Amino acid sequence: MRLYAEVTVNESLNTAERVSPDDVATLPTRETEVLVVGGGPAGAAMGYWLAEQGHEVAIVERKHFPREKTCGDGLTPRAVKQLDDMGLGERLKQFHRYEGLRATAHGKELELQWPTHPTYPRHGYVVRRRELDAMVAFNAEKSGAALLQGHEAMTPILDKGCVRGAVVNDLDEGRQMAIRADYVVVADGANSRFGRSLGTARTKAWPYGTAIRTYWVSPRHDEPWIESALDVQDRNGNSMPGYGWIFPVGDGTINVVLVCCRHSRSSKT
Ligand SMILES: Cc1cc2nc3c(=O)[nH]c(=O)nc-3n(C[C@H](O)[C@H](O)[C@H](O)COP(=O)(O)OP(=O)(O)OC[C@H]3O[C@@H](n4cnc5c(N)ncnc54)[C@H](O)[C@@H]3O)c2cc1C
Repeated sequence: MRLYAEVTVNESLNTAERVSPDDVATLPTRETEVLVVGGGPAGAAMGYWLAEQGHEVAIVERKHFPREKTCGDGLTPRAVKQLDDMGLGERLKQFHRYEGLRATAHGKELELQWPTHPTYPRHGYVVRRRELDAMVAFNAEKSGAALLQGHEAMTPILDKGCVRGAVVNDLDEGRQMAIRADYVVVADGANSRFGRSLGTARTKAWPYGTAIRTYWVSPRHDEPWIESALDVQDRNGNSMPGYGWIFPVGDGTINVVLVCCRHSRSSKT
């Protein structure tokens, strides 16, 4: 999540994606103190805390909740604490609670219980993102944030080098508007098209992972451990750069993910 207000944006970047002030002036306009782009857990949590502090905040989310998000669905003790701080602790108790990580590799198995900590609980939960993200987003709305679902931020509105809002498409109504704001929070996820148009970029020297995720029905759906496999092999038994995991969802299914890592997009490994 990145905060862009009062940050000077390099005007030469992605000029094709910029919209001219004249065009913006013709659009219907909504004003708010803070505009949050993206209603995932980061954007919705931001919206919640700002609204709780009495700020006027609008969250634009291009999808409608509940929506899917490819993820392992595992909440660590730190995430549990964050959700509890937002008043969602009781609601988490309906989901599958787990105690720690079982790490497996090369025939060895380690069961690592979450440590005792003065601030964080000693357990996590597995919650499908379809449910988690809706819960966090509607919680922000309940605390006073305007949650605009089916709204996609298309282009930043710039004023003297500062981001002061966005041109937003209302995807349900098929119309466009300008949302002007004193501050803009970019919480549009890993691909971050909106963020990229402001000049952010992935550091290509860092490793890059591609994941496949599915849910399987399993009798071991309510195990007290999330499990990671750190020795992924191809069909000939050769080690591959990557890892897999199996997270028990507690509803009759397990979340299974395979991640393949490589050093850069151009690498063949
Ligand atoms: C395979 C995989 C497994 C993972 N497993 C785990 C796990 O087990 N536990 C864990 O803690 N983390 C896990 N993660 C990481 C986790 O998914 C992310 O850290 C988390 O989703 C980030 O939340 P976010 O709110 O920043 O972004 P997102 O959850 O991606 O939300 C961004 C939101 O912005 C919206 N959006 C995007 N662009 C626009 C726009 N222009 N206008 C309006 N809306 C827009 C999107 O629709 C989306 O709802 C995993 C990630 C992957 C890929």
